[in-house]
Amino acid sequence: MRNFFSRFFQGRYGSYGTDKLTRFLLILAVINLLVSICTPFGFLYYIAVALMVYNCYRLLSHNISARYRENERFERVFKKITGLFKRTRSELYTRKKYHIYTCPNCNQKIRIPRGKGQIIIRCPKCLTEFQKKS
Ligand SMILES: [Zn+2]
Repeated sequence: MRNFFSRFFQGRYGSYGTDKLTRFLLILAVINLLVSICTPFGFLYYIAVALMVYNCYRLLSHNISARYRENERFERVFKKITGLFKRTRSELYTRKKYHIYTCPNCNQKIRIPRGKGQIIIRCPKCLTEFQKKS
C-alpha cells in the first residue's frame, strides 16, 4: 500500500510534502466548511469543496515548477498582508505615546511625546517654529 502511494505520488508536486499555500488553502477550506455548517451561508460549502479540489489538483500536478512559483507568489502576498497588520499595530502603539504633527510650512511629519503641555516645536527640516499642545 505504501509502495502504491509512493509510486502514485512520484513526480507529482505532493511528493515533496505540503507547502504553505496547501496548508493555507486547507485551513481556509475547513473554516469555510465550519461556517457553512453553523451559519445560513450554505454556499460556503461549495467554496470549501472548490478549495479542496484545487488543493488536490496542486498536490497531484506534474508541473512542479509552476506549483512552486504559485507557492512563492502566495508567500510574497501573504508576507505583505501580515506586514501591513504588524505596521498598523506598531503605529497604534506610537499614536498612544506620541502626537504626530505636520509642519505648517513644509508638511514634514514630526513626532512629539504626549503629556508635555504647551510646547514650541521646531521643524527639523525647514526650522519653522510653531506652538502646539502635546
Ligand atoms: Zn517644516
